[in-house]
Amino acid sequence: MITASSQQNNIDLGDLYQEVLLEHAKRPRFKSKPNECRFCEEGKNPLCGDVITVYCHVDEKNDGAPVSLKTSFQGSGCSISQASASMMCELLQNVTFAQAKDFIQHAEQIYTGKIALLDDIEEDVQALYGVSKFPVRIKCAALAWKTMEWLLNHHFDKDGFPKLGCKNLADSEKNCTTKKLKVVSTDEV
Ligand code: ZN
Repeated sequence: MITASSQQNNIDLGDLYQEVLLEHAKRPRFKSKPNECRFCEEGKNPLCGDVITVYCHVDEKNDGAPVSLKTSFQGSGCSISQASASMMCELLQNVTFAQAKDFIQHAEQIYTGKIALLDDIEEDVQALYGVSKFPVRIKCAALAWKTMEWLLNHHFDKDGFPKLGCKNLADSEKNCTTKKLKVVSTDEV
């Protein structure tokens, strides 16, 4: 039986993508708390104990229309959760709101095993397909993406305009809500 704890320190994804995951876990990209940032949200995966805070910085035009988003993260947890967050933040750099939403949906198709390859997504993210073979670990891969999706849905309107409320990171941290990903089956992720 595969359990979260038995795989915690000994990931055996059993495919060629394992190396990519481990490399990201060992040297996570964009793992930092930004100096300037208006939006952050925290997500938890109680199944494995993974905790992640995602940050989203918006470069805005004078009229408030978002030019591009940059993301980073902090947190602790298993290798898959850390690697997945690193891959996400590497992908979500200088992207539009619409692109970010598209990437998040595409990534979900990959880590849930619905599709192995997508042309428009960073090659490293394809490594998350290996996780889909281990349903108990999908939550670990999903954590960063689901938390970022929550952030975008709750701090931006449907056209990608940031909502009022959080003036700076301190303000955002005060209002940041912890989302616990429920333990659900692969189909429900
Ligand atoms: Zn985990």
